[in-house]
Amino acid sequence: MSKPTRIAYFSMEIALEPEIPTYAGGLGILAGDTLRSAADMRLPMCAVTLIHRKGYFRQRLDESGWQFEEEDPWDIAKSVKELSPRVTVRIDGRDVHIRCWLYEIKGVSGEVIPVHLLDTDLEENSEWDRRLTDRLYLGDHYMRLCQEVVLGQGGVRMLKALGHRNLARFHMNEGHAACLGIELLYEEMEALGREEIDEEILHNVRAKCVFTTHTPVPAGHDQFGMELVRQVLGHYSAFLKRKDLFQSQHCESECLNMTSLALHLSHYVNGVAKRHAEVSRLMFAHYSIDAITNGVHPGTWVSPPFKVLFERFVPDWRKDSFNLRSILRIPDDQIWLAHQSAKDTLLNFITEQTGVQLSHDKITLGFARRAAAYKRPGLLFANRERLAVIAKQAGGLQLVYAGKAHPGDDQGKFLIQDIIRLKDDLAAQGITLVYLPDYDMRIAQLMTSGVDVWLNTPEAPMEASGTSGMKAALNGVPSLSVLDGWWIEGCIEGLTGWAVEDSTGAGDERALYDKLQKEIVPMYRDDRSKFIGIMRHSIALNGSFFNTQRMLLQYLARAYFP
Ligand SMILES: *Cc1c(COP(=O)(O)O)cnc(C)c1O
Repeated sequence: MSKPTRIAYFSMEIALEPEIPTYAGGLGILAGDTLRSAADMRLPMCAVTLIHRKGYFRQRLDESGWQFEEEDPWDIAKSVKELSPRVTVRIDGRDVHIRCWLYEIKGVSGEVIPVHLLDTDLEENSEWDRRLTDRLYLGDHYMRLCQEVVLGQGGVRMLKALGHRNLARFHMNEGHAACLGIELLYEEMEALGREEIDEEILHNVRAKCVFTTHTPVPAGHDQFGMELVRQVLGHYSAFLKRKDLFQSQHCESECLNMTSLALHLSHYVNGVAKRHAEVSRLMFAHYSIDAITNGVHPGTWVSPPFKVLFERFVPDWRKDSFNLRSILRIPDDQIWLAHQSAKDTLLNFITEQTGVQLSHDKITLGFARRAAAYKRPGLLFANRERLAVIAKQAGGLQLVYAGKAHPGDDQGKFLIQDIIRLKDDLAAQGITLVYLPDYDMRIAQLMTSGVDVWLNTPEAPMEASGTSGMKAALNGVPSLSVLDGWWIEGCIEGLTGWAVEDSTGAGDERALYDKLQKEIVPMYRDDRSKFIGIMRHSIALNGSFFNTQRMLLQYLARAYFP
């Protein structure tokens, strides 16, 4: 038998294309971009996720700005192909049957990465089990743990049933995928004829597993109370005896912490930016945690007019993202024209969606995030008098906002409503605000390429990485952002964008207004060539580095095949 070389990538969400809503946000986008780059690079990879027949949710905003959620069903038969193997997993004493659909990601040279979407909607299953793979991140803890068993145990079994016998590594994208480790432990026990999980078994499983953690807050890590765990996973008695493998110091009582489990079962663990890895090392002191900073897939996020420019000036930019350095050769007027064309596309889309007509000439800031308190979507409005002064100085200010709140997060929904309710007051001060509903891949592509400055105001160090600013950078849109996540590495002040840095203790809002008023607005208005220089360096320095091709080369060298 040949040496195993294939990498199996497991993720609860994967953003495959705009028509397939099997993702909620950054985690799924990263998974999709990773696999798209892997296909370009012809890496031997395959992926596993769930089918999410009714998506995450479609966001509707009523007159008052309150969020309502709707199911988001998609045309499965049109986009994916059913494969014949079936497998079962044991959940809470039941056998749950699983089938699998195939989506193929094609790379620039035609190489294909198979993505397997697991589905429990089969007649053999109970009505409840049939709905298990319908919705992403909805439902209670019980449903969530059942879904994780389908993804982890079900995924490993399905890959085997499909004939993938040469799997060298299993990559858990976030703790949701950690159940795959339980399956590997039991495979190993069976192979060695053991009844208990001993050091040799752990060693063998660790050699196969890689874990990427994504959140810097303990509350963001998936965990389940032991009563629920015994109910759902009761038949795994050898595993349940090894509490040391899954307990967490962050649990109040006994629990199964998916991050702890993934940490215990992996030979390599990383955070998604340098700062995030530092924070994770404090949270999980007993582990060695490396940093591989996230990236985005250029072919997916570069706007059509910049694609045309890249084709002309940067040979092979799709095959080799390092070549984006050559952007430094492109003259000012070409960059500006391409940007104005991307801005046109965004403004037309906004008019279509909202009836609002924005101006081409006014400076336009973009902000799109999951609506969560730590992302501080309202920071720009903290001092409205000052904002009005800046708008006046700029000859008018345009703000494009978007983002969903998690369906269970009323606080997040209030944050959206608070912003939308400012619209009329802002208009009286020369500030046009639009809030685009139902933020998704397509809107992200339009916004990150069509605004003039990309704004990000998280409370440090809560942003693990952030990737929307990287999409903006690839399109020559500089960031104005708090120094957190990737921006600590990507910001070269006045060359790739600007830092919101509270150096005087007066607060981030003051720093934000100062940067806008003293640097960005005057430069945009009076020194266009300097502004274009920043756009150019955003692409050449940050686009050429913060992409998933560079990221995967680092995974290959440090995680997969060191
Ligand atoms: C890129 C992207 C994200 C992640 O962006 P952040 O910078 O991490 O907030 C979330 N949702 C969608 C639809 C995206 O395209």
